[in-house]
Amino acid sequence: MTGAAKESMPAGTTAGTPQILLAHHLKHLKLPTVLREYDKVARECARDGVDHPRYLLRLVELELIDRERRMVERRIRAARFPAVKSFDTFDFTAIPSLNKMLVLELARCGYILRRENIIALGNSGTGKTHVALALGLAACQKGFSVAFATAASLVNQLLEARDEKRLLRLQRELQAVKLLIVDELGYVPLSPTGAELLFEVFSQRYERGSTIVTSNLPFEDWTSVLGSERLTGALLDRLTHHVSILAMNGDSYRLRQSAGRRRATAAAEQNQATPDNADPETGEIIP
Ligand code: ADP
Ligand code: MG
Repeated sequence: MTGAAKESMPAGTTAGTPQILLAHHLKHLKLPTVLREYDKVARECARDGVDHPRYLLRLVELELIDRERRMVERRIRAARFPAVKSFDTFDFTAIPSLNKMLVLELARCGYILRRENIIALGNSGTGKTHVALALGLAACQKGFSVAFATAASLVNQLLEARDEKRLLRLQRELQAVKLLIVDELGYVPLSPTGAELLFEVFSQRYERGSTIVTSNLPFEDWTSVLGSERLTGALLDRLTHHVSILAMNGDSYRLRQSAGRRRATAAAEQNQATPDNADPETGEIIP
């Protein structure tokens, strides 16, 4: 017997006011918004002369909207993003090498339905993780399941799962997710076993689900991370069969921001150091 069924009133019970029974049944049916809103909406409908089918429709629509929002939040939590970032806060003018039209098209998630991949390549600080997170968020909002991990942490999870004899389960989970984001391939060289396990993940997802990979290394250097030329070739073969490549080489946004901040601080300090009666050009005191 389920917990909910155990709590339900015995058949034929009439005890309790209708509100108490209604609250109980609405919880049982998992309609929390109907429960929260039915009284308020009823009063609004009475005031506005709205008939009962429309009253019910309003309530059900509120429940649907709330349910969708709760599901998006659940998908975002399940994705384990290190931060929630969107394209609203991404400045495309800072990275001219990036094809903005392509990125905005990808944000519509058609590639996930087609089980295609995305690879973002470029030096450090150019917004690769930001773009991957924003694409991940867009996928959650469109109803797709997402998982995010750095390459190093994914490999650690796989090695740990193997040691604990639950590799198959983790592999199945990684295969089932509609979008897998593997961030920072290239910062840490992988052990031969680690590289094999990562290869298996890509291989099992091939034409079954979408994968986004970000890397600071051009393809020709991936062998240095994966260790073997044969493995790298086979991995790239699968990953790049249906792929959009995002070229993200440019100035580091982080460095540019901190250089900008340093300039602003220096300017502010200079302004402070200059008395009000000083010449703004030379700093000389004007008597
Ligand atoms: P990468 O993964 O390429 O090393 P990140 O995505 O981590 O770079 O970017 C570094 C920081 O700069 C992050 O806080 C990110 O949100 C921000 N950032 C990078 N590029 C942009 C951009 N074009 N517009 C807004 N913020 C950016
Ligand atoms: Mg990054």
